[in-house]
Amino acid sequence: MSRRNFTRNQREQIIERSKRNGLICCEGCGLVLGEKRYEIDHIIAEALRPEADKQKPITIAEGQLLGKDCCHRGPDGKTRKDVKAIAKGKRQYDRANGMKIRAKAKIPSPPKPRKPAPKQLPPRVVDVFGRRLDSVERKAITGSRRGAV
Ligand SMILES: [Zn+2]
Repeated sequence: MSRRNFTRNQREQIIERSKRNGLICCEGCGLVLGEKRYEIDHIIAEALRPEADKQKPITIAEGQLLGKDCCHRGPDGKTRKDVKAIAKGKRQYDRANGMKIRAKAKIPSPPKPRKPAPKQLPPRVVDVFGRRLDSVERKAITGSRRGAV
């Protein structure tokens, strides 16, 4: 991947193009830059250009003068957006060309804590016939005793 840069002469032409009443202005927002720093930006980031485009020599129409602080750098600047777009382009290329190998193994999760044993229910007091179990048992016990005697 090659990156074409503007020649010294082209940079001068872009600077001259940016001037309003003899003052260098940001070509992004129009701010009069005066002493403020500026940079020459590739309107379409070179990393996003197809190789075929890059075979041709670069022209000043592909560049713009941007104030460093107002338009080029910074949280909402062009550079940050370009970097984002370039990264996205690479991800899309990788996916389309099978270059990204997705992890097949599941990521092990930490062992789950053991569930506490279910609470023991109190002993049944009434049987399915609605009789109180303690009285039935007593009868059964007394009955067996009688039978034994
Ligand atoms: Zn600007």
